[in-house]
Amino acid sequence: MTSDLHIVWHRQDLRLTDQPAVHAAANHKILPIYILDDAAAGDWALGGAQRWWLHWSLTRLAADYTALGAELMFARGDAVDILSSLAERHGAAALHATRHFEPYARRQEAALTAAAPCPVHLHASGYLREPGAVTTGSGTPFKVFTPYWRACQSLGAPGAPLPAPKQLSGTRNVSTERLDEWQLLPAKPDWAAGIAQMWTPGEAGAHAQLAHFGPERAQLYGTDRDLPEKPGTSQLSPHLHFGEVSARQVWHSLGNRMEIEAAEPFIRQLGWRDFSVSLITHAPDLPEAAWSPKFRNFPWRDDAAALKRWQRGQTGYPIVDAGMRQLWQTGWMHNRVRMIVASFLCKHLLLHWRHGEDWFWDTLVDADLANNAAGWQWVAGSGADASPYFRIFNPIAQAQKFDPQGQYIRRFVPELADLPTKFIHAPWTAPQNTLTSCEVVLGKTYPHPMVDHSAARSRALGAYEQIKAA
Ligand code: FAD
Repeated sequence: MTSDLHIVWHRQDLRLTDQPAVHAAANHKILPIYILDDAAAGDWALGGAQRWWLHWSLTRLAADYTALGAELMFARGDAVDILSSLAERHGAAALHATRHFEPYARRQEAALTAAAPCPVHLHASGYLREPGAVTTGSGTPFKVFTPYWRACQSLGAPGAPLPAPKQLSGTRNVSTERLDEWQLLPAKPDWAAGIAQMWTPGEAGAHAQLAHFGPERAQLYGTDRDLPEKPGTSQLSPHLHFGEVSARQVWHSLGNRMEIEAAEPFIRQLGWRDFSVSLITHAPDLPEAAWSPKFRNFPWRDDAAALKRWQRGQTGYPIVDAGMRQLWQTGWMHNRVRMIVASFLCKHLLLHWRHGEDWFWDTLVDADLANNAAGWQWVAGSGADASPYFRIFNPIAQAQKFDPQGQYIRRFVPELADLPTKFIHAPWTAPQNTLTSCEVVLGKTYPHPMVDHSAARSRALGAYEQIKAA
């Protein structure tokens, strides 16, 4: 027998405002559920930093539901089986979810639609424009960002966000697992202290961060976005990834039409987010395989020791080490520095971009299958609309340009903090007496550069020569 029960399946949409699945179910009896289904995600099951985030985001979502009169249910296992039997058991009238575009998420949606004993409604996700909404004149997906973005802009403002429900009617007699049984938080050692200091997961945390960024900073984004020591970017990425805020909520928070126009360089980044997800929809193997076929035979090196030094921020290049340590300590890294450390891994060390992608996957609180794969392939030169391979970032020149006073380096590489600005970007160029007076002993308190920039550059270009003609 069918009841008036509507099930809402939460995934990367952990919010109640502008949440189309919740909105559609809000006038019925509602049973919201989150299912931890690591097996479905396979190699892309959540990494450590995101498990920490998920714990707190779900804790807050559950509290928000309770305040409105419903209980969020937790379950682990095969999402399709769990949802189908839940719907069967309760005689559910419908099942709602927002669309997701990771290859495994799309497989789950297809399987659920086939297996569920009730209608399955898939609602719009948290993007400005979903994959498929913006196509070339011939109906194919864009493979180059600039024309893609022009086509998006011609569509005007995204629709207004949906309101939050004022009250919900939950259902009783639901057996739920306890979130703390899932052991999403690190125990021994508890490496999350720096992450906890920087972030407040959950919908309220997302809106506090959005308000903190605000229209004024959004308008300054074009000038400040490349300086890692400034709060020039929004730091909304984990909130956007977990769907604690939608992209159109961000857009509409930026003010009137003129203010939104002035914030175009910032909004364009939301466009890159949409572009990346449209790429992965088109090429589901984007996280595993080079978009450009000629890169599939690139002569990558194998060097576990070098990879470890990169991961630990011990390369001897201060800007690279600062970035890798920022990542480890806070679960996030500034975009400019992501590009520098990624270029260093793929080009200076000639290590496969997949090693970097995996490390980011485990350590970033904003790890996102589409953005991470597209970001790595962009830097490696193998992606759609990628930076050309022969564009090899010079880590010293990049540091001098974007961290001219070395404040960012001093913050994350404290053993160099006393060095004069003149030497902070390349400590090995400092005279011995300066190093001594600043208590820097190269090879002891801070490493010698693990590769010589010019030699590494030539080696990378030589490797590229081998595939260039292919
Ligand atoms: P802002 O500059 O304030 O931008 C606003 C939002 O736009 C971001 O929150 C993000 O959702 C989106 N965005 C910004 N830049 C990009 C971009 N280049 N591509 C796609 N979306 C973008 N971003 C992730 O969200 N997850 C990842 O796993 C990820 N991995 C990356 C790996 C590499 C090697 C590189 C070079 C970039 C990666 N990025 C990733 C993109 C970018 O670095 C981050 O989105 C950004 O640094 C997040 O900080 P923010 O929220 O302050 O961004």
